[in-house]
Amino acid sequence: MVDLQGQYKQIKEAVNTSIEQVLNTSAYINGPLVHEFQADLEKYLGVKHVIPCANGTDALQIAMMGLGLEQGDEVITADFTFAATVEVIALLKLTPVLVDVDAKTYNIDIEALKKAITPKTKAIVPVHLFGQVANMEAVLEIAKEHNLFVIEDNAQAIGANYTFEDGTKKKAGTIGNVGTTSFFPSKNLGCYGDGGAIFTNDDELAHIMRGIVNHGMYTRYYHDVVGVNSRLDSLQAGVLKAKLPRLDNYCGARRNAACFYNKALSVSEHIITPKTSACGEICDTCDCHVFHQYTLQITNGKRDDLHKHLLEKGIPNAIYYPVALHSQKAYADARYKESDFPVTNELIKTVISLPMHTELDNEQLTFITKTILDFVN
Ligand SMILES: *Cc1c(COP(=O)(O)O)cnc(C)c1O
Repeated sequence: MVDLQGQYKQIKEAVNTSIEQVLNTSAYINGPLVHEFQADLEKYLGVKHVIPCANGTDALQIAMMGLGLEQGDEVITADFTFAATVEVIALLKLTPVLVDVDAKTYNIDIEALKKAITPKTKAIVPVHLFGQVANMEAVLEIAKEHNLFVIEDNAQAIGANYTFEDGTKKKAGTIGNVGTTSFFPSKNLGCYGDGGAIFTNDDELAHIMRGIVNHGMYTRYYHDVVGVNSRLDSLQAGVLKAKLPRLDNYCGARRNAACFYNKALSVSEHIITPKTSACGEICDTCDCHVFHQYTLQITNGKRDDLHKHLLEKGIPNAIYYPVALHSQKAYADARYKESDFPVTNELIKTVISLPMHTELDNEQLTFITKTILDFVN
């Protein structure tokens, strides 16, 4: 699904230099490269504060702790996402409220979101799924009306832009009160282990969260709040510092591959290709989608057979996600009715994700698309 070796070969010198710098100084924890990467990322995102941490799941947890959410507070998020989002809500003894997603973008459905709001609702967690930014204009409007926090789970869409109706653009993850991301190796900006970060423009919230990531300490050995230990280590920061200047090119390479897939595969009546919210079709100018995944829907009931067929032909592919969160044992709840989730219940039966990375060439793309069309039609 990804070609991390191929990508490493292209950036070997820069990455190795960064890593050697850490090894030669033994500044493994909180070394200069962590601060340099933090500053570089703040500049790239146009955000006041980046708080590096150990992974994307911690980032979500720390954001919710920083906002002071308390037991019983309801937090609304999408039913169709990776489980980390709902996991931290449940871990903090908040009440997860899962809602259906939009059939076109697979992101949180705005009508379902509105319906789910109660007097106990405190926060909304839009997930920018597969690399496409959720409908933030509508999410912000609802949040303002009901006085709710917005926490963007941006683990899959770092580098994506969101364009508001008035033409202003903001980077994904910098739009709500707080945004979180993951630097897991297969993410669009991945390190060579685990890593994550939190973004905010709110000075006070940034201060609170900087203490939380460090055992609740604001002065050494004085623990003002209950915190966690969540750090991005210097080696990973070194890898990320070397890769960040290439992120826009990486996103461009992914978008080019997505364009190729879309053109080739949209000819089939049994395939629904990904659409963007901005203009419907994917084109070079759509910067609201950075294709963490390229995900199709197979509508003639052959999705599972295609999955097996492609594996037999040596083409990696995956089902993201095979089970809706409201149907997972850990998150099932009598509050949920199947009729509330028509879109996710359909997606889990039809979606399939194809190889998507920065090193795909036309020969590979031609082989993949031809194999799919021969089988599906
Ligand atoms: C990867 C991912 C996470 C978790 O990130 P980790 O670094 O693996 O903890 C959270 N949310 C979404 C949507 C993700 O894709």
